[in-house]
Amino acid sequence: MTSARPQILIVDDEPANVQVVAEALAGFDLYFATNGARALQMAVSQPFDLILLDVVMPNMDGFEVLRWLKSEAKTQHIPVIFITAMTDVNDEARGFDLGAVDYIVKPISPPITRARVRTHIEIKRQRDLLEQHAAMDGLTKIANRRRFDESLARAWRAAQRSAEPLTLMLIDVDYFKRYNDYYGHSPGDECLRRIAHALEHAFSRGDDLAARYGGEEFALLIAGDQGETAARRVIDAIADLEIPHARSDASVFVSVSLGAVVTRPDLTQPDTALSAADRLLYAAKEAGRDQGHLDDQISGRRVVIRREPENPTVVSLP
Ligand SMILES: [Mg+2]
Repeated sequence: MTSARPQILIVDDEPANVQVVAEALAGFDLYFATNGARALQMAVSQPFDLILLDVVMPNMDGFEVLRWLKSEAKTQHIPVIFITAMTDVNDEARGFDLGAVDYIVKPISPPITRARVRTHIEIKRQRDLLEQHAAMDGLTKIANRRRFDESLARAWRAAQRSAEPLTLMLIDVDYFKRYNDYYGHSPGDECLRRIAHALEHAFSRGDDLAARYGGEEFALLIAGDQGETAARRVIDAIADLEIPHARSDASVFVSVSLGAVVTRPDLTQPDTALSAADRLLYAAKEAGRDQGHLDDQISGRRVVIRREPENPTVVSLP
């Protein structure tokens, strides 16, 4: 998340230089580091919008700091402007080669420094916005399929290193075509939005991801092997919305069917795991919808998850 006020990290081994730059950038949220190691430490722990980096510093110089920033996923997209007294064109070229976005030469001119900083922050904001939109489903505002596929690839690589299990789930809204035909497309869209919101709300922990996978299909990626609990949570969360569905044969309310796989990267591949979830989803539909079919590839357990029946009304007799 980017805060309203851009956050800028100023890195220079001479506090007097930091002071000059800071005065030029009054109004921004400013942070300081007087050596490269400290700068890197701060850059991974906080989402900066821009880094102003001195080239000549003892121990770790600006080039080395920049190379490190570009090699880390967390910091590689932060724009870096070099601030240097050197006027050697080779050094400038080297900085650009390493991925610096601009150069400011000491002694700095406050108005020019401000203008360049503003420009690069604006470019970064625009790019962040584009990336956000490219990864977001337009109708429901949750992650789209592209983002899901990217997250799955990333989670898979992480799980390969850690040997941790993953749960993949495909969810389909029961009789959604009938819902659209009966209630109209606008209520149909609203129904998808409510389901998306409920899923996102139920699975917003850490690296868990809820995505719209297409049409009336959603996908979940969950760290760990608690697939059965998660599947139950999905079925209950959608039932709890109590969206009336007069044309459903599965329930009086909008319900979902789902297929889930609990697995580990040493057992299968992402595409194969998704196909397996898809087959389980199909089986859940065939078996009457409003249920989940889960295959735990680690324990070998297969389960069918159905909604808990409503509590029978208790009538107290005199
Ligand atoms: Mg210096």
